Amino acid sequence: MSIASNNTSDVHANLVEATGLRKYFPITAGVFRRVIGHVKAVEDVSFSIKRGETLGLVGESGCGKTTTGRLLLRLMAPTSGTVLYEGRDIFDLPLEEMRRLRRNIQIIFQDPYSSLHPRMRVHEIISEPIRFHRLLEGKQAVNARVDELMEVVGLSAAYRNRYPHEFSGGQRQRIGIARALAVDPRFIVCDEPVSALDVSIQAQVLNLLEDLQEQFDLTYLFIAHDLSVVQHASDRIAVMYLGRIAEVAESRALFEKPLHPYCEALLSAIPIPEPDVKRRQILLVGDVPSPANPPSGCYFHPRCKYAVERCHSETPQLRTVPTANGLERQVACHRAEELDLQSGKPTAEAI
Ligand code: SF4
Repeated sequence: MSIASNNTSDVHANLVEATGLRKYFPITAGVFRRVIGHVKAVEDVSFSIKRGETLGLVGESGCGKTTTGRLLLRLMAPTSGTVLYEGRDIFDLPLEEMRRLRRNIQIIFQDPYSSLHPRMRVHEIISEPIRFHRLLEGKQAVNARVDELMEVVGLSAAYRNRYPHEFSGGQRQRIGIARALAVDPRFIVCDEPVSALDVSIQAQVLNLLEDLQEQFDLTYLFIAHDLSVVQHASDRIAVMYLGRIAEVAESRALFEKPLHPYCEALLSAIPIPEPDVKRRQILLVGDVPSPANPPSGCYFHPRCKYAVERCHSETPQLRTVPTANGLERQVACHRAEELDLQSGKPTAEAI
């Protein structure tokens, strides 16, 4: 998705800025539920999202990407760190101000089957946030707005009295999108919005999100476990591993040349639709370590074929790495400059 034009005179180029975010969940044991350790779901995560931009947040299950998305929406409190929205720390906002801010920040859930109340009709589901925030007066005005939203997401307003089970998966996701749009948000966390859908439907929903972004000047955090899903949907991509960010790069730059060995392995696993071109897949050894007991130094070192002694003891910080083509990127790897990783671009020579 392209960066949408935005004519606001706001001083903050970044709509959202996360700095040093940590989220630890306590592990308890015994009848007194004594805390015996912590699951480090999110560990020192920092990134920013520009107005009108789509930032893809990618990683395997349990890497902390969904927890990060929920922290950005203040659906949970961080163990430490800040999230600025238009320059203001959302965790410092009084509840009344946070309630107003909730209009601006919305979420589209992964599972369109369980995220919609089964006993509510579609118009009730879409109008609920309008009524909660008291955006419109009178039943007629609310109904007209619901009909408008249904048309915007490609659903006939004639279906307004139906229940969620009467719709297909793709249509249910459209209902979820209409509900998120009902309050005129500016920032939407799309939490794996197409992963529960058939491949044939995924492209339609992705195209809809792209159209809506342009139409309403939306900013997205697009969470996915599959790099190929976010490739075309994102301006930039942040790759997470075991609660930390491994690399943040412009989408094209990441796919042309990953700088972090984990990103290299993820890219190598993406199938190529051309039968004559193959990519040499990099198989990672071992399993992802437990976030309750992460490795010392670089979290990726037990699975990294490029690991050196330093990687076992020193945690690499996310830092800006200069690149020949001038595309912006940050990498958390001690050896980012010296490694010549396999290009993400498949070539016939790679067979
Ligand atoms: Fe591999 Fe070391 Fe880089 Fe970590 S810091 S990704 S272990 S080379």
